[in-house]
Amino acid sequence: MSESARARRASEVAEAVRAQRERLERACRAAGRSPEAVALLPVTKYFPASDAHILYTLGFRDFGESRVQEAAAKVADFRGLESNAAVRWHMIGQLQRNKANAVARWAAAVHSVDNSKLIAGLARGVATARDRGERATDADLAVYLQVSLDGDTQRGGAAEPELDALGAAVAEADGLALAGLMAVPPLGADPERSFARLHEIHVEFLRSFPRATQLSAGMSGDMEVAVRHGSTCVRVGTALLGLRTITSP
Ligand SMILES: *Cc1c(COP(=O)(O)O)cnc(C)c1O
Repeated sequence: MSESARARRASEVAEAVRAQRERLERACRAAGRSPEAVALLPVTKYFPASDAHILYTLGFRDFGESRVQEAAAKVADFRGLESNAAVRWHMIGQLQRNKANAVARWAAAVHSVDNSKLIAGLARGVATARDRGERATDADLAVYLQVSLDGDTQRGGAAEPELDALGAAVAEADGLALAGLMAVPPLGADPERSFARLHEIHVEFLRSFPRATQLSAGMSGDMEVAVRHGSTCVRVGTALLGLRTITSP
């Protein structure tokens, strides 16, 4: 990339960041919530590491990724930089159990945990990575249980009745910290109804797990609705970085 293309991209992203920070602040105010109550998590999947570096210079320290190999490449790109220690990588996409070891090496958080085998795999992965000095952070791995709002667990997410058992499994596992819940509205579903339901499920979940206060909900298209229904983390890709040129597999 030429110097001028780099500069153009940096100012384009800076402008989008400014707009989305404002948008989130407005959404918080409209919902009667403090702007500090909701984190803006940039989703860098399908975008080059250079975009993550731009976001870093704009103050972001957390980044969301959804494909294991692509994420590992970006993590490696940051390694060796002074900035590396402060960066927290979030795995937000569907995760196969056989990738748990790899993810446990670099992830600060996983938003897409939906079954007990994956929980066991991540706990083992964190332990192994720690033994070998390979885990990028001293902190426990933050786990969000992904909820399926329509019971179609093919697209990821656990059915609501499973959440208590999964929460207990995370709470008991060494190396994992139960952060809260996450969901993506089902295809074609009304986000308003979906996030209202998710909020109810979270309130219920908090009765069993009072410290699981995080709710990862909302994306570029539905941030306001999610904030109105208690989101503490909106995962935003398109609105910050533009249309992804590679389509999802
Ligand atoms: C890609 C992705 C996002 C970001 O979606 P945008 O519509 O681009 O903001 C959020 N959450 C998950 C789980 C994703 O895979």
